Amino acid sequence: MRIHIINPAADFPSYHTADVFAAWDLGGRTTVADLSTTTLAAFVPPNWHIRLTDEAITPLPDHPAAEDADIVAITGKVSQRNRMLRLADRYRALGRRVVIGGSYASLSPEDVRPHADVLVTGEIEDIAAELFADLAAGKPRDHYQGTRPDLRRSPLPRWDLYPNQGANLGAIQTSRGCPFQCDFCDVIQYLGRKQRHKDPDQVVAELEVLHRHGYRRVFLADDNFTVYRNRAHDMLAALRRWNEAHADAPMRFMTQVSIDLARDADLMAACKAAGLDSVFIGIETINEESLRQAGKRQNLYQSTSDALAAILSHGIAVSGGIIVGFDADGPDIFDRLAGFIHESPVPVLSVGALVAPPGTPLHDRLAAEGRLADASPQSAASPFDTNIRPARMSRRQLLDGLARLCDDIYSPAAYGRRIATFLTAYGGPAAGRAAAPQPVPLPPLLRGVLKRLSGFGPAEKRMILEGLTAARWRPDAQLEVVEALARYAQIRHMLSSARSLTPSARPAG
Ligand code: SF4
Repeated sequence: MRIHIINPAADFPSYHTADVFAAWDLGGRTTVADLSTTTLAAFVPPNWHIRLTDEAITPLPDHPAAEDADIVAITGKVSQRNRMLRLADRYRALGRRVVIGGSYASLSPEDVRPHADVLVTGEIEDIAAELFADLAAGKPRDHYQGTRPDLRRSPLPRWDLYPNQGANLGAIQTSRGCPFQCDFCDVIQYLGRKQRHKDPDQVVAELEVLHRHGYRRVFLADDNFTVYRNRAHDMLAALRRWNEAHADAPMRFMTQVSIDLARDADLMAACKAAGLDSVFIGIETINEESLRQAGKRQNLYQSTSDALAAILSHGIAVSGGIIVGFDADGPDIFDRLAGFIHESPVPVLSVGALVAPPGTPLHDRLAAEGRLADASPQSAASPFDTNIRPARMSRRQLLDGLARLCDDIYSPAAYGRRIATFLTAYGGPAAGRAAAPQPVPLPPLLRGVLKRLSGFGPAEKRMILEGLTAARWRPDAQLEVVEALARYAQIRHMLSSARSLTPSARPAG
């Protein structure tokens, strides 16, 4: 048997994708290597032939004329929905058996069902053997429902099949699920609130493989890495020991945490010591009433600014998510957020409209209140679309206000100021300037992106020059500054693409 496993292209650029490289003719790249396809590949029977495609790196033809595989397996998130379904239809038209699974199929099975011969919902580990046995026998059911498996039974992903040269970061998932209950979150609907964990030895084995494939940075693809303190300390100790044993070519890690990390100095020190020096945090909003209403209580225990300062002072860089459109947000929220963001030491904040993903408590409440708007299924993935009718402003006000906010906070001058503020906060008072300027390592690919970006105009050129000049005096923060500049290129690419995608042409309630 032959199987072609596909991670489809994203339908539009986002804060977290790396489409800018392909858009600027620098080759296909992805920010984080794909775990779904490589994990699925690990379950394929050994006598099968596997082809694995990540379209972020190697796009498939829009109209494939032929396909060698007997089975095409497609996975994906809501941000890949259109491409996923289009590919499925085309491979079915070629007579191939199409299996669709992953988070979007699990959360919106009714949308995917008409496009799949075999629909897989939920997590794969406990049902893979039965699924592949049925596929091999040529008699699969039309639906397989996964479970919430013990992750200690999850296999080593097949990184040997993956185009690793096209990914900025490798990926390891050390846990699934999150015990919090933010009302807009579909992660907990898909993966549950009981967090499940891999053993540190299992994670170290995955780390070894990624290291052999050339990765030196790894995304720990957890929903909330630090929420269980004892287990986080155990995992960090294993990562620290591994790095100590590989001091000549260590790994650096990034992950997702909740902001309460800032109240635990020991844990922040353990993160830094392990090489975990970059985190994404769902800041969501500075409107406390909105945080309370969304059930995001973990963000209420200290001021956001103090929390960010504490994390940065430990030498841990932060990127964050901001949501606009909660019921307590009036039209003044845009100016309030702009003020907060301009003062912030966090260059990259993924600002987007509140959406109500199907299956969430927010979706149920707004449906009951008649406040779900007519929107594409992908409104949950686009930063500039939404399926809600806000309470204290019109949908048009929300989306237009959001566009203005992004133009403001992502002007080159504003972004350059945030990089400077970041450098002041990063590492705390102990972080000294170098005695003499140090060269900033710039791989050719990043040099290409920055060259193209500097061609946008004098303001962009000045931002890059000032950022790189400041980084020469701060060797401890050079990687973060270079990365912030590269992320800026992606964000500008996303914002200009969003102009053509913006739903402002669509009637807004
Ligand atoms: S903290 Fe994050 S992962 Fe956990 S419920 Fe809230 S939004 Fe979801």
